[in-house]
Amino acid sequence: MLEEILEYQKLDAKLVAVEQEIANSKAKKVVNQMAEFVKTAQMGLVNIEKNASTLIQEYEELNTKFENLLKEVETITKIKFDDLDNTNLIEQEKRANECVAELLVVEKNISNLSKKINNTLKEFDTTKAKGMQAKQRHTQGMKEYNDLVNKKETEIAHLKSELLKIEKSVDKKLLEKYKKMREDKKFPVFVPLISNSCGGCSMQLPTSQLNKLEQAGMMECENCRRVIFINKK
Ligand SMILES: [Zn+2]
Repeated sequence: MLEEILEYQKLDAKLVAVEQEIANSKAKKVVNQMAEFVKTAQMGLVNIEKNASTLIQEYEELNTKFENLLKEVETITKIKFDDLDNTNLIEQEKRANECVAELLVVEKNISNLSKKINNTLKEFDTTKAKGMQAKQRHTQGMKEYNDLVNKKETEIAHLKSELLKIEKSVDKKLLEKYKKMREDKKFPVFVPLISNSCGGCSMQLPTSQLNKLEQAGMMECENCRRVIFINKK
């Protein structure tokens, strides 16, 4: 019963190795890294756009303010000063001066804002270019990754058919347990007892458990859930 599943595991180890070779390949790393880059760039672009729309709104508000001040100055210059009494004249002059001072401030703010908007546009272009580059490298990586998968396809198919062949001789319950663990990416599933410890996670087994194992020949590790067996010499 144990012999068959161990034989199965031995063959499956070859499949695991191929799968790991693909998963750990440089192409796969490039694909993952570039996907991350593209995502970051996209998020960056969304933020920059939000930022830009706030700046443009600010810009429009300042422009309106600028135009209103200009209109006010224009109105003041059209007043016939001869018709005004002294108090009114002083008031109008004061307001005109205020308008000019405000205009200067608004003008300066508009100029600063223009610079900010230009910088934001530049940042947008840079981020976009970086995103496009990452996208291209991602596509290239995908191609290399697919080439690798295709290259390994025959080997994988062969191993899978071999596994299927010997599967029939394996105890059903053990196989079920095995496949579940394998899905959870725990490998190997069946591990020998090494110096009274689990051959998978190295947890030391208490005497009571050792006795149980001695009797049953195999048992599940309480820590890592692998199946510990006694290696018959
Ligand atoms: Zn364990």
